[in-house]
Amino acid sequence: MKIGKDTVARFHYRLSDADGKEIESSHGGEPMAVLWGVGGVIPGVERALEGRQAGDSFQVSVAPEDGYGPVRELKMRVSKKYFPKDVALKPGITVQLQTEQGPRVVRVVKVGMSVVDVDGNHPLAGRQLEFAIDIVDVRAATPEEIDHRHVHHDGDPHH
Ligand code: ZN
Repeated sequence: MKIGKDTVARFHYRLSDADGKEIESSHGGEPMAVLWGVGGVIPGVERALEGRQAGDSFQVSVAPEDGYGPVRELKMRVSKKYFPKDVALKPGITVQLQTEQGPRVVRVVKVGMSVVDVDGNHPLAGRQLEFAIDIVDVRAATPEEIDHRHVHHDGDPHH
């Protein structure tokens, strides 16, 4: 079966930056599972998956506009009271903030006495991403998965 509309693909991936330095990898853990065509992965990867089948291995180079977008002006100054109490704030760490729009991951830029400067860009925004992908298997999506627009794993509690 080939990956396309109404299929679920499982694959392992290794993500590196443009210099070949590994950023993250699924090897050693569970493969990633996606319902194809509903935006469950970045567009550059979703397009590259189409038509592939179990056993295929390939590389895909994803530009920022097909990945996590360009770096935007998302610097903010936030009162310390909005940060989790149990996190030692220092530049470079990422923290999840509870905002009126829901949880949001930000990167700490500078820590002041009562305020923290953060950058709301995704850590991979603006970066050229190199994926090495190994397709594990492909199956037809169930009607429930198509209806819910996400993958159901064996043993998932009903929701
Ligand atoms: Zn569901």
